[in-house]
Amino acid sequence: MDLAFNDLLPHFKTVGSDLYTRGMVSVHGGNLSLKQGTSLCITRSGSRLGYLEESDLIVTGVDKDDENTRKASSELGVHRAIYTKTLSTAIVHSHPIHATALSFRSDKIFPQDEAGKIFIPTVPVIGFGSEPVPGGFAAEVAEALKTNAVVIVHKHGSFARGMTLEEAYVITELLEISCRILYMLEAMKR
Ligand SMILES: [Zn+2]
Repeated sequence: MDLAFNDLLPHFKTVGSDLYTRGMVSVHGGNLSLKQGTSLCITRSGSRLGYLEESDLIVTGVDKDDENTRKASSELGVHRAIYTKTLSTAIVHSHPIHATALSFRSDKIFPQDEAGKIFIPTVPVIGFGSEPVPGGFAAEVAEALKTNAVVIVHKHGSFARGMTLEEAYVITELLEISCRILYMLEAMKR
């Protein structure tokens, strides 16, 4: 592992484990990355976020391929686009169930709970009406993350940005809680 990323495994492990135990990714779902300078450290393709080891962390270029690039998550292109278009240094991609379900229905989500209204008042749904493909909508996701902390890709999952993995995780959890509440409010109307 690249020396610059030496101390980062505990952060990947904690956030990966929290995402898995809170049901926001399946065993092999989701991916995490951190950027330092012109390099990024991203979870390996097919890694289990709930049980990350050092060998699951792949260091490659933000805008240059090298011998490690092929081992990186299939969403690498989206992570690279986000780092290129924003000042963020951490990305959490997950598949939160309620947020993903609501992404089937409209091109924007408006949280109604207090925390959601303050921190993520509007959540864009990227690619609404199109079928999702792995690594797809990179430019659209990155563009939307210039002004939003989190977005959802239609029928797929969320991309949250931050300066640390923990910060991007908190936004992801906030999104899922807000979407769970929205879902419950709808259910109570029936
Ligand atoms: Zn995904």
